[in-house]
Amino acid sequence: MTFEELGLSDEVLHAVADAGYEQPTPIQEQAIPLVLMGRDILGCAQTGTGKTASFTLPMIDILAQGRARARMPRSLILTPTRELAAQIAENFVIYGKYHKLTMALLIGGESFGPQVEKLDRGVDVLIATPGRLIDHFERGRILLNGVKILVIDEADRMLDMGFIPDVERIVSFLPKIRQTLFFSATFPPEVRRLSDNFLINPKEITVSPTVSTAELVEHFLVHTPSKDSEKREALRRILSSEDVKNALIFCNRKRDVDTLARSLKRHGFSAAALHGDMVQAARTETLAAFKAGTITYLVATDVAGRGLDIVGLSHVFNFDVPIHAGDYIHRIGRTGRAGAKGHAIMLATRADGKYLAAIQKLIGQDIPMLDGAAAAGAGQGPVKDGTEAGRETRNKPARSRGRRGGARTKTTTKTEAGTKTETEAGTKTETESPDKGGRRGRRSGARQEPAHDKVVGLGDHVPAFLMRDPKKSL
Ligand code: AMP
Repeated sequence: MTFEELGLSDEVLHAVADAGYEQPTPIQEQAIPLVLMGRDILGCAQTGTGKTASFTLPMIDILAQGRARARMPRSLILTPTRELAAQIAENFVIYGKYHKLTMALLIGGESFGPQVEKLDRGVDVLIATPGRLIDHFERGRILLNGVKILVIDEADRMLDMGFIPDVERIVSFLPKIRQTLFFSATFPPEVRRLSDNFLINPKEITVSPTVSTAELVEHFLVHTPSKDSEKREALRRILSSEDVKNALIFCNRKRDVDTLARSLKRHGFSAAALHGDMVQAARTETLAAFKAGTITYLVATDVAGRGLDIVGLSHVFNFDVPIHAGDYIHRIGRTGRAGAKGHAIMLATRADGKYLAAIQKLIGQDIPMLDGAAAAGAGQGPVKDGTEAGRETRNKPARSRGRRGGARTKTTTKTEAGTKTETEAGTKTETESPDKGGRRGRRSGARQEPAHDKVVGLGDHVPAFLMRDPKKSL
């Protein structure tokens, strides 16, 4: 199918062509004609599927008719995070370049003044995080009874972040007759209840994130000691032994994000932190620097990392195993986008067995171990910060890949939402010759003994999941 067949205007088609898109993604194929018809949509899709364009493109055409009135936005897009809101706004700018639509972004952490000025002039599209929108509403600066199209993006994340009461409140201020487009990657009961309440006779669309998302992500696991300093040491070893162009490193807690970013910087890595406690200006600046390649490693929480679209992200590291299995899918979905190969490496300690098992169940495969000395070194006993060998080789230029012994699997997995997750397959047999640089020849391909024979550093208390032969699970 082509974009021309979807019923979009010439102006939007022109903008889409300028963006370099040749073909609509599956969600765009399904959603765009329905949105143009005025139907409600229940979209089961995660970022990376082309979801944003699936609602922004038809919205631009719908909103092209009519004019905005002061303080009365004509459409409202609710997102859980400021970064996601900013990203959607960027999409409107790109796709709406041949239209004259006005847009405002209401996100926390930015001063009210310019936001109010824009609202006063009247906006066609209002993109907001729930808290800031309620703030404006309660101060009488905005009227929501002119909203004809409502988009709720990443509803499951809204739930995780405790925004559901705010969302329900906001929706109660909207006209009952409106078009609602509701997106979520997963549908726990609370999200299902919300969609039942907000949507009228919706068309359900479920897409697998194959086209521009984690199409080709290699997953690997590294066992580490649980002591924080040793875990950081383990991470540094892996960063030094991998061909990392740029990486998002996820921690479960904000304070660990700060500590890890500081520690990496101290050890000469180009790193910065991104989390919800930072002022918005710092968040925006950090993200821009990361996207521009000025910063190589961005250490983030789920909140800050959610939905980020970073072109050509080579690696995602899970410094902590996520507590909610669904977060693993969101985290790794930042890499392997738009057809590029991605790499997801997770550090797991003895205490993580339960969470790791849940993740493996969700993705329908056991995550193979990242074999070799770097990983084994990661699991070894204490090596004091800053004393590991080869510090000076840390920021080595990228070398060619193809040295993995770990298997890659093709799996089509049903997530709890019924979303299919597909990862590309193929077992790599290529190994690296021992003379190709010290750190490199340490994958399983170059090893003499199978990785699962022994787990260095965990003594006799090795959890079963670490002992499993990844090859047998394929
Ligand atoms: P999203 O799922 O909205 O976060 O989009 C993920 C990425 O896919 C973004 O970088 C978009 O620019 C890109 N994208 C969206 N639609 C298409 C398309 N039809 N062809 C190629 N890339 C696309």
